[in-house]
Amino acid sequence: MVLLTLVNKTISLDLKEYGFSMKKHPNKHIREAIEYAVENGWDIVETGKSGHAFCRLKCILGHAEHQMSIWSTPKDPETHAKQILRKVKQCTGDEQ
Ligand SMILES: [Zn+2]
Repeated sequence: MVLLTLVNKTISLDLKEYGFSMKKHPNKHIREAIEYAVENGWDIVETGKSGHAFCRLKCILGHAEHQMSIWSTPKDPETHAKQILRKVKQCTGDEQ
């Protein structure tokens, strides 16, 4: 039973890795912020070729205020990453 659980866990982790490998943000801080958002159930929305946005993030609950554009080359990647984390926390209720 324990073994079965472990195997299932490994498979789901592999699928997750595969998903992220499709498109990775070049900046480490922002990549981690995006992963944090996904772990909290947020969706990545591809923005295509238009604009400077890397992608959009939105909460799966569909709140209009819980979505934001992720820039490909922000002036300050660490600050941008913190903005992402703050936004995700607004939806999870960790921060008002
Ligand atoms: Zn939300």
